[in-house]
Amino acid sequence: MPLRKTKHKSDEVTRIAYRFLAFPDEEQKIMFSKTFGCVRYLYNRMLDDKSKAYKNFGEKLNLTPAWYKHLSCCRWLSEVDSLALANVQLNLNSAFTNFYEGRADYPKFKKKSDHHDSYTTNMVNGNIRLRYSNHHICLSLPKIPGEVKVRNHRPIRQGGTLKSVTVSRETNERYYVALLFEYTKKKVVHDIDPDNSIGLDMSMHAFYVDSNGNTVDTPHPYLRIQEGLAKEQRKLSHMKKGSSNYRKQRKKISALYAKTKHQRNDFLHKLSRKLVDTYDIIGIEDLNMHGMSQSLNFGKSVSDKGWGMFTVMLNYKAEELGKKVIRIDKWFPSSQMCNNCGCISTQTKDLSVREWTCPHCGTQHNRDENAAINIKNEAVRIYCTQ
Ligand SMILES: [Zn+2]
Repeated sequence: MPLRKTKHKSDEVTRIAYRFLAFPDEEQKIMFSKTFGCVRYLYNRMLDDKSKAYKNFGEKLNLTPAWYKHLSCCRWLSEVDSLALANVQLNLNSAFTNFYEGRADYPKFKKKSDHHDSYTTNMVNGNIRLRYSNHHICLSLPKIPGEVKVRNHRPIRQGGTLKSVTVSRETNERYYVALLFEYTKKKVVHDIDPDNSIGLDMSMHAFYVDSNGNTVDTPHPYLRIQEGLAKEQRKLSHMKKGSSNYRKQRKKISALYAKTKHQRNDFLHKLSRKLVDTYDIIGIEDLNMHGMSQSLNFGKSVSDKGWGMFTVMLNYKAEELGKKVIRIDKWFPSSQMCNNCGCISTQTKDLSVREWTCPHCGTQHNRDENAAINIKNEAVRIYCTQ
């Protein structure tokens, strides 16, 4: 009987992708380019052949990269990583399945002008190797000469198995590798200390204010670049659509967007990591983001702050460590209640009131810090009564 790896049904598998900036040398860039080109070519060629067979004969063709490699016109496909090509087949098959089952439109051809090039290769019999040196990973990939230098700006969780690597090149000529690790999840039990807790109040003026009175601000990447972006957008509107200047300008704009996105994600990852490492219970407001961005006229800055993504990161990182993130009902009067005596004051309904004094016990409050303390206390109360 062949040996087979069996997984227990109770084992839960999670996958985490780590995306890092890569610094390929010229030779490696050439191979990456070749692979991107082959992957795109094969995808389009298979799509075309499948479409014709389906249209003309009503046949669902099952095509493989191996078949194309034997054609005299496609021999060059053998020069690149065969796993990258195998993934093309898988991707196209699932695109068709999604179409047949009504979940997606008919698969489209991949254009060279699409926002970025990428390919995915899989770990098979040690064909991918990682070597860690301070702040960098040296990555060996199939058919790529030498080791690709990768900046390792956040730690990779121990105990995972590398499953695949996706190499991409963005319009700003930056290269990234995404390392996908698989973890078998064991239920982590952490001894929760209710005294070791924190409450976060999403503030209008900062990213949040915490129950210790600290204000944490976003790098505001979007806001900062927004002005420049508007200028570049204006330039674009005066250019002839489809001209080479127009394409260059579009590249420039999408590079600006990509930059802000990476900065923001990096900030959110580091912040959420620090919080779950430090605290056992983290209380947060359950905000109705859509309602809030409309009613408070936060507009762009709420989505820019990435609060929604931040709470997702907090949740899964806390779960990994057996810690608790507790969402407080959005109707809980965190801003209006005095954290000292519990009296409710309506003066804070006016959002411009930043400081207030409790009419009952006379405690002076900073609006956001008081709210954060209430959120913390409520989170601890919910945890202890669960
Ligand atoms: Zn009071």
